[in-house]
Amino acid sequence: MTLREAFNGNTAVAMAGIAFTGCDLLGAAQGRARAQAPSAARGKARARPAQRRQEAVVASRRRQVVVAGRRVKTIDVHAHCVIPEAYALLGLKVEDHRGPGIEEVGPRRMREMDAQGIDMEALSINPAWYRAERDVVAQVIKIQNERLAEFCATYPDRFVAFASVALQYPDLAVQQLVEGVKKLGLRGAAVGASVAGEEFSDPKFHPFWAKAEELGVLIFIHPQSTPDLARRFKGNGWLANTIGNPLDTTIALSHLIFEGTLDRFPGLKICSAHGGGFLPSYAPRSDNSLRVAPDMDTGVKLKKKPTEYLRQMYYDTLVFTSEALRHLAAEVGVSHLVLGTDHPIPWQAKSVDHILKAPGFTAAQRKAMLGETAAKLLGIKP
Ligand SMILES: [Zn+2]
Repeated sequence: MTLREAFNGNTAVAMAGIAFTGCDLLGAAQGRARAQAPSAARGKARARPAQRRQEAVVASRRRQVVVAGRRVKTIDVHAHCVIPEAYALLGLKVEDHRGPGIEEVGPRRMREMDAQGIDMEALSINPAWYRAERDVVAQVIKIQNERLAEFCATYPDRFVAFASVALQYPDLAVQQLVEGVKKLGLRGAAVGASVAGEEFSDPKFHPFWAKAEELGVLIFIHPQSTPDLARRFKGNGWLANTIGNPLDTTIALSHLIFEGTLDRFPGLKICSAHGGGFLPSYAPRSDNSLRVAPDMDTGVKLKKKPTEYLRQMYYDTLVFTSEALRHLAAEVGVSHLVLGTDHPIPWQAKSVDHILKAPGFTAAQRKAMLGETAAKLLGIKP
């Protein structure tokens, strides 16, 4: 599908112009925010009782997360959205996404963040464009990155975003990353776990990793259900997501390790969703495979044991139980964990409590996981 065909097929969308997801609701929220800001400022000088009551109500709606007596700015690195008009160019509908509220980034989103105690989200869009032609995908990414930047500029204390990039055209992806970061203020890029059947470790992607390393920005890996196994995922249990997603990440990270990509780009900052998938749960098998089957080594001489590369990457904390969080921290290092909710997909509604209540972590470690580490990675003032 060419860009022209895409536009012809979506005349209504093109004619309607470009509006951000849930823009009507966003407008209402902006109006409220403007109304509240002066009232809060005046309140400091001469607060009337009614104003004070109103401010108290506003403040009490947002859960304030405190660790060891200090307020922590919580940052969620795993938060989804889509831009409908970009989707339309790809022939997709927002409703094709499974999961409630995926289309809405607005007041409902912020209410849910407030209730959970999430101060900021780093928004990302799952790549549905890796098979699109160059002119189509260039337009899709332009729309997405500009809209994300506009949205973050509207709510700078609540949202940052990862750029979308067309990795199937690595040269284009490099340009999009540079423009997204330098011109639009995006904080890195969100990618899948492979690119239309090609692994991230393929040398064709080296220029992209090199640029990400040079810019020092975070690359957020979000899996896409190991598409090659779609037939085997049919049936109950939503296996394409339930096990397909963690498996997709496991394969992606294993290739980056075993093909030497992480040796080649040691400064690359990668953060994987869902706690890195299954890999950290069974990590030492990777070390032992080199012992058991050295003939399977392709000749790439790794500088470290495979498990040691896990400590050179980052992972969200979406692993459900205290024991899983403890094990993940033991394998990858607690300083490499960042809060992730999968919002608005309700995989985990108590992501903050998951970190606050898991036994065995120090206050400093909890603060790091809740937001301090993500703040450093995303260039956010803690
Ligand atoms: Zn997700």
